[in-house]
Amino acid sequence: MELCNCIEPPWSADELLMKYQYISDVFIALAYFSIPLELIYFVKKSAVFPYRWVLVQFGAFIVLCGATHLINLWTFSIHSRTVAVVMTTAKILTAVVSCATALMLVHIIPDLLSVKTRELFLKNKAAELDREMGLIRTQEETGRHVRMLTHEIRSTLDRHTILKTTLIELGRTLGLEECALWMPTRTGLELHLSYTLRHQNPVDITVPIQLPEINRVFNTSHAVKISPSSPVARLRPVGKYMPGEVVAVRVPLLHLSNFHIHDWPELSTKRYALMVLMLPSDSARQWHLYELELVEVVADQVAVALSHAAILEESMKARDLLMEQNVALDLARREAETAVRARNDFLAVMNHEMRTPMHAIIALSSLLQETELSPEQRLMVETVLKSSNLLATLINDVLDLSRLEDGSLQLETGTFSLNSLFREAVALIKPIAAVKKLYIRLSLSPELPEYAIGDEKRIMQVLLNVIGNAVKFTKEGGVSISVFIANSDSLRDPRGAPDFFPLPSDNHFYLHVEVKDTGSGINPQDIPKIFVKFVQNQPHAAKNSSGLGLAICKRFVNLMEGHIWIESEGLGKGSTLRFIIKLGVPGRSFESKLSFMQKAAGNQTRPNFSGLKVVVMDDNSVGRTVTKGLLSHLGCDVTAVASGDECIRAVTHEHKVVFLDVSIPGVDTFEVAIRIHEKFSKRDRPIIVGLTGNADRATKENCLRVGMHGVLLKPVSVDKMRSALSELVDHGYLVEPQ
Ligand code: ADP
Repeated sequence: MELCNCIEPPWSADELLMKYQYISDVFIALAYFSIPLELIYFVKKSAVFPYRWVLVQFGAFIVLCGATHLINLWTFSIHSRTVAVVMTTAKILTAVVSCATALMLVHIIPDLLSVKTRELFLKNKAAELDREMGLIRTQEETGRHVRMLTHEIRSTLDRHTILKTTLIELGRTLGLEECALWMPTRTGLELHLSYTLRHQNPVDITVPIQLPEINRVFNTSHAVKISPSSPVARLRPVGKYMPGEVVAVRVPLLHLSNFHIHDWPELSTKRYALMVLMLPSDSARQWHLYELELVEVVADQVAVALSHAAILEESMKARDLLMEQNVALDLARREAETAVRARNDFLAVMNHEMRTPMHAIIALSSLLQETELSPEQRLMVETVLKSSNLLATLINDVLDLSRLEDGSLQLETGTFSLNSLFREAVALIKPIAAVKKLYIRLSLSPELPEYAIGDEKRIMQVLLNVIGNAVKFTKEGGVSISVFIANSDSLRDPRGAPDFFPLPSDNHFYLHVEVKDTGSGINPQDIPKIFVKFVQNQPHAAKNSSGLGLAICKRFVNLMEGHIWIESEGLGKGSTLRFIIKLGVPGRSFESKLSFMQKAAGNQTRPNFSGLKVVVMDDNSVGRTVTKGLLSHLGCDVTAVASGDECIRAVTHEHKVVFLDVSIPGVDTFEVAIRIHEKFSKRDRPIIVGLTGNADRATKENCLRVGMHGVLLKPVSVDKMRSALSELVDHGYLVEPQ
């Protein structure tokens, strides 16, 4: 610069320009320095700010610009006026703008910073949400897989299908190369390869259970990564590729000992099966946490399904066993039924076979009895008759009992006189009691109805049995019989019938019979045995007793919806037998019919059958002769024939009665009856009476079905034959010959 000594005006224009430039530079420098300070201040205050390095760079740039302007203060030089003016203007403008910018930045930077921070925060949040969404999606996916798998597993209850399905589904869901299940062997010392994904029938491989790797898996409920070279993982031939990652998980096996599953190991302690899962070899895939979780859940599901399957298997086995037992039972039942049928057939045959000779004995001795005999002979004949009658009763008892036991015996109900029944029973027993010098008292309650509906024959049988027993087991004193209507108190007598709660009504009543004796009595502890068949309590009773009587009585009384029991204070103190039976009350119409019949009976005289033409058909010559003898004794004109054809030929319209022997095969006799019917018109047709040794209802019904008018049960005595013919007259079938 060239100095001028001239006095220059103090504020020349150039100097002024310089001054302005000077001041502007100072302001520019100030503004430049303040901006980085502001930036540093705000960035420091903000927690999150990216681009820190850019800012540092920018700060440095500004500071350097500021420094340039500051240094500029010492480098001013005189320029041409124009340049000086332009520069001054530019610098002033720069100073104004930079100062204004510095001041503006104070307001803008915090806003900019907060926007940036918020943006960054939102970004972070969005990323976080994304992660969470991803997790939820994976969990959902896992859940879906588990549900699918569980459904597949549970949709079957067959053990093999469960395990096979599990492996297949797991393999598909997780994209596995191999999946295997190792089951403990029976000894529990080894694991046996039972199922694999790729091989339908895995080769027979076992590994010892006590391997550290297996123990590690068994000790946790989680899926555990194991080495691909572990013996349980070496399922594929080792190739040149890297094996994939392998995990193993335990499958708890239930304590199955209660179910006795035979082809499974007996699991006394807690045992596990081992499930091994392999990712594809030579892939970078690794097990994810959610996949491991899925494997664990599936292992638990398999355990539950297996336990259900085990229970089902066991119940199926039990069902099969039950079915087998049922078949065996059915067979046994059929055999028993066949045995019962065989027994009944045998009894029927025996019954018939025994009755035929009995018929001869009884008929002939009864005929003999009606002839002139010396006292000794009469005694002998009477003894024969008594013994034969006893034998006949025994045959009846045995047959009755067998029919009562198989339920084929049915009651034959009808209306009968109660008074007559009891008087008749006493009349029959009285002679025996008289011999033993015993009294027999009968007390019939006045409130008893005259007639009742029931099976008269069976009631008589029970009465004869119990009164007979009382007489049989009494040496002195006697027997008192009381008959009355059972009132509600006696019906609920707890001693005799604890379970017997009958309800009387208008149509029926309960009859109470009490037979009290002063005889030998019964030891109370023996009472329950007395109604059991073939049980006799009295040693001396064995001679003429069978131990059947009370057993049969009990069954008859039960059939009559009643109850029978015996009471005794003890040996030598007598006994009281009681029974209650249900009887019907006859209607009014019966009473009027009965009085008519009684009148008719009163007019009757002793029947006479002389000249009555009868035919007897019996293939058994003894039977034929006996029946012929009986009828001839009663005055009949008898034609005896041995066969059906003979019979049909022999019967003419003069014959009034035809006696047909109904033998066991029986069919021929029925045929004969039908043909006799066909041979004659209704007016000339003879009366047909069946003679049978078979006491069952079916035989009687069959006889009546083929047109017979009546059936006579063998053995037949003279009296029985006489009353049979009289009955035919009574019913109007026969006109009594004059
Ligand atoms: P049994 O043919 O032997 O008489 P029961 O069945 O009629 O057969 O009787 C069975 C047993 O009950 C008899 O042997 C006898 O010991 C006993 N019993 C029955 N009734 C009497 C009674 N009134 N007094 C004593 N004991 C009796």
